[in-house]
Amino acid sequence: MAVQSAATESDAQKLKFIEEMTKATDDVQQKVLAEILSRNAETEYLRRYRVDKETDRDQFKAKVPVVTYEDLQPAIQRIADGDRSPILCSHPISEFLTSSGTSAGERKLMPTIQEELDRRQILYSLLMPVMNLYVPGLDKGKGLYFLFIKSETKTPGGLPARPVLTSYYKSDHFKLRPYDPFNVYTSPTAAILCTDSFQSMYAQMLCGLLQRLDVLRVGAVFASGLLRAIRFLQLHWRDLADDIAAGTLSAKITDPSIRGSVAEILKPDKDLAEFIVSECSSENFAGIITRIWPNTKYLDVIVTGAMAQYIPTLEYYSGGLPMACTMYASSECYFGLNLKPMCDPSEVSYTIMPNMAYFEFLPHDPTVAPKLDPPPHLLDLADVEVGKEYELVITTYAGLYRYRVGDILRVTGFHNAAPQFRFVRRKNVILSIESDKTDEAELQGAVERASALLRPYGATVVEYTSQADATKIPGHYVIYWELLLKEEGKWPEKKVLNDCCLEMEEAMNTVYRQSRAADGSIGPLEIRVVKRGTFEELMDYAISRGASINQYKVPRCVTFPPIIELLDSRVISAHFSPACPKWSPHRRST
Ligand code: AMP
Repeated sequence: MAVQSAATESDAQKLKFIEEMTKATDDVQQKVLAEILSRNAETEYLRRYRVDKETDRDQFKAKVPVVTYEDLQPAIQRIADGDRSPILCSHPISEFLTSSGTSAGERKLMPTIQEELDRRQILYSLLMPVMNLYVPGLDKGKGLYFLFIKSETKTPGGLPARPVLTSYYKSDHFKLRPYDPFNVYTSPTAAILCTDSFQSMYAQMLCGLLQRLDVLRVGAVFASGLLRAIRFLQLHWRDLADDIAAGTLSAKITDPSIRGSVAEILKPDKDLAEFIVSECSSENFAGIITRIWPNTKYLDVIVTGAMAQYIPTLEYYSGGLPMACTMYASSECYFGLNLKPMCDPSEVSYTIMPNMAYFEFLPHDPTVAPKLDPPPHLLDLADVEVGKEYELVITTYAGLYRYRVGDILRVTGFHNAAPQFRFVRRKNVILSIESDKTDEAELQGAVERASALLRPYGATVVEYTSQADATKIPGHYVIYWELLLKEEGKWPEKKVLNDCCLEMEEAMNTVYRQSRAADGSIGPLEIRVVKRGTFEELMDYAISRGASINQYKVPRCVTFPPIIELLDSRVISAHFSPACPKWSPHRRST
């Protein structure tokens, strides 16, 4: 990387750090593991596997099993219930990060320690120095970022449980960050920290409009978040324009800190109000981002993985602005960054930073069933091979040891000695609109639960499949049902099928229900009833494309456009969920 082209001396230091870390990948990994083991050797977990301060990498791999969340759940539950002994980690667990990955329908609880915030901060601090290499002048304006926190709870033992970004935005690392001309946001911190998503979004949009000519980049964490913001503008531009014309904030915004911080920049501006009315009053929102924020150089949103479905819509609203996917992270650990952030979304590779945790890679061949005996050999970060796919396994400072994250990654190349990875997919997830992740078993359970409502009407679901429909904002789940009727022509009433939609939603995991009920970021679930014989046609189609008759299984989720077209052309009736499913921030007790 061109350290000599760094925008500032401080950027040069950060880029040098990236170079050093990626050149010494294996050494750094060895040191990270040694450090994790030496400080956590006295934990209950590592003692159980006879790991001590002297244990080296090979012994560690031989002694400690590769695990999933479910294996750790009893230990995690004890910590959540208030056991403060060193179970997984010698440092006190400061809070739980609630992952969007679920276990038995509830968010996974990831224990974390105070110093992890510093480690996350290190990764954040590398993003702009890299971006500045590709996009000059970002210190001459601001970033319009739609950032949100979510509600949090306390575990029975009194530790906070909240999503990782909520934890970060509420931390002093974010709230008290020193002024950095390359990282100035239009959104006041008070607006970001408001749990009421309407008030938060309203204030962030208003401040973005007021400072529209300063805006050089527009972003959100995930693509779905930015699309929600655009939808919000489509629905609320009139109120926003009225506020700008009058120079007063709508009475709908009641949070006093938001009111205080918006008052500092809200002045009557009739011209701006008229401009907003003229741009937003037509149905045509094509290129709206560049029309309203004409100096935007790029969109800062993750459009890899499940978010790739939003690329065409974002292109439509932004008139084809570049989309930068800057980092790859999770509640368990922040992994790495994209060293070529302005590349095409299809080319994005993330370089895992070897200082963040100890990383291993479980070879993943989708065509071969995994063998557990003998246990598979996991590769080190420096040893993975270009072109191969792996499942990511991590050992963290906070006390996860050889933990399967569930992400499948493909090696695309190396930066110095550090491999770069394309995010291929999340294992087992078939449906996702934003942070929700629904797997086949959850969908099956939901279909079974809903189809019970059909029984009194003599109808059964003989086949089903699904798609995440991202063509409208917010996106929604579509489930295709082929029904068998006891009495030909005697269909269950419309209301019954509508109720089936809601029943399916009630059966979904907590992340889905929160997105529906609290955030409004997923639309009502839809059931499309298709004609008898449609799934046979689907099979014929798959066979005509080379599938084997013996091995054919109905796909429980479809993404291939000709298949979706086929299904849609056979739809007899469509039904939507009439209400939001129940959701509460409190976890179901287990
Ligand atoms: P959570 O634990 O809720 O923070 O979700 C973390 C998961 O989100 C990761 O394990 C990935 O599956 C997904 N994810 C995070 N960053 C990216 C990215 N840049 N591209 C694709 N998927 C991502």
